[in-house]
This record gives sequence, structure tokens and C-alpha cells, in this order.
Amino acid sequence: MKTIPAKTIISSVKYPEYWFGNDYNMNIYRGCNHGCIYCDSRSLCYRNPDFDQVVIKQNVLELIEKELSSKRKSGIVGTGSMSDPYNSYEICQKATRKSLELLDLNGFGVGICTKSTLVCRDIDLMKKISAHSPVTVCMTITSSDDDIGRRIEPGAPSSTDRFNALKELSRAGVYCGVLMMPLLTDITDTEKNVRGIVEMAAESGIDFIYPSFGFTMRDGSREYLYQKLDAGFPGVKEKYINLYGDSYECSVPDAKRLARVFERLSDGYKIKYRMKGITAGAFERVRNKQISMFDKRIPDNDIIR
Ligand code: SF4
Repeated sequence: MKTIPAKTIISSVKYPEYWFGNDYNMNIYRGCNHGCIYCDSRSLCYRNPDFDQVVIKQNVLELIEKELSSKRKSGIVGTGSMSDPYNSYEICQKATRKSLELLDLNGFGVGICTKSTLVCRDIDLMKKISAHSPVTVCMTITSSDDDIGRRIEPGAPSSTDRFNALKELSRAGVYCGVLMMPLLTDITDTEKNVRGIVEMAAESGIDFIYPSFGFTMRDGSREYLYQKLDAGFPGVKEKYINLYGDSYECSVPDAKRLARVFERLSDGYKIKYRMKGITAGAFERVRNKQISMFDKRIPDNDIIR
């Protein structure tokens, strides 16, 4: 596998409360082979013209170990913001797995964003980490229909497989949920799709869904999206040009109504969907686990009644 030089891996996050309480961020790989037509990481500002070619950062594990041990305070390390940590190379490289071992050894939590079912391979490590720190797994699912999913995320596992992975994570006690983002105008911005995702997520036993009712476009990612729309969704590009021009943040036209449908349905299933509550849930999971471990250590006759 190709490597690229790296001076540092773990960066601090300014506002952890905006994104699952992540205090730090790390990207072990550069580029991604899931081929999502809307991917923001493809934008020119990230200066990665070979985005589909996945490369790994040189000496990545040594750097992670060194940087973790030099942090003054522990915290949650997020991964998956710029490339999928469970891309197909991870099957052999196991760099994400080894980084979880280092997080566990150094007393850090983890926040994972992925579209891959390979994440289930590391459930054993997630359980170890969650004995001392928060663990949150976000599975991005943007379509309840496998056929549409294949057309907009051609290199990623099907939505059905991703829901099954969530089921496995949830049964193992891992705090997990769906990132329902982005929604694409004229492709996935339907009530049927939103309802489908919430219902399948509820059936999977997840803890939360974090939604967005729109998508982003900027130089580089816009041209790629338009090229793919022309190839697979004739006429949609023209609508995007008229509706959004050069805008970066693009809400789907029916965003407000879809948000109401989503919230009503999620409330019915008691699924968390606000960032504050989702983050609090991850910390609560650790506290409950520690209390139950403590309780098990106290013999019955020692409990003060
Ligand atoms: S999985 Fe994420 S990083 Fe990879 S192509 Fe899709 S949106 Fe981009």
C-alpha cells in the first residue's frame, strides 16, 4: 500500500460539543474508495487530486502512540471525517484496529464515522474502551433503498448490510446510531426515504440518528457530483444549478416538512436526534457500565441496605 509522509496525526477539536463530544480528530488514511458521488473530502481545498486512491500515513501507529502519551488531558478521539477508517485496505492493514488498541491503552475514548460493516470486527476493542471512556459508532446511511444507495455510494456496503452491522453493534452493547446525511435533492429527499431510514434504524436497535436535510458542494466536489448526476440522474444537475448556484450549504426544498416528519417518527421510537442528548448518552453509557461493574464486585451481604 502507498504511504505518505505525516508529521502529526491527532489534532485538537475546538468545539467538541458540535460533533459527538470529540476532543481530538485523527485520519489514519488519506483518500477513500467508497466513491460517494457527494463526497465533500473531494473538494479542491483539500489538495488531493487522487482521492479514490487510498494511502496510509507513514509511521502512523508510532505517531499516534507518541501523540496520545504527550496529551495533557484524555478525551474522545474522532476518526472518519476525511476518509473512511474502515476502507477495504483496513482488512489487511489493521491500522484502525491497532489505533483502537492504543486508545484503550492510553485511556482515551473514540468516535467512529464509517459506512463499512468491517467496523464490527473491532467490537471486542470497543467493549474494552467503553469500560473507561465513551465509544460512539456512527454509521452513515443516506438511503433506505439499496438500489439508490448503490448508485450514489457505489463502493460502500449496501444500506441493508449497514443496518445489519448496526444490529450487531447494538446487540453487543456498543453505543451506535445513524448519520442520516446528506439528503440529495430529487434523489433521496422523499418522505418515503426518511421514514424508511428511521424505521429500519429503530428495528436495528440503535441509540440515535443525527440528520441533515441537505448537502454541500464546493469547487471540486461540485464538478464530480455534476458529472455523476449527468451519468446516472439525467436532468438533476440543471435543477441544482438553478436552485443552488455556487452555494456551499444546500438545503433540500422540502427540508422543513421532512424534518418535522423525522422528529415525530424518532420521538415515537424514543430515538435521540439532538447532538447534546446523543453526546450525553455516550457518557451515560460509560457511567452505567462502571456502576454495574462496581456492583458486581460487592458481595450481596456487603451492600448497605
Ligand atoms: S465514505 Fe465518506 S470519505 Fe469515503 S467517499 Fe464516501 S463520503 Fe467520501
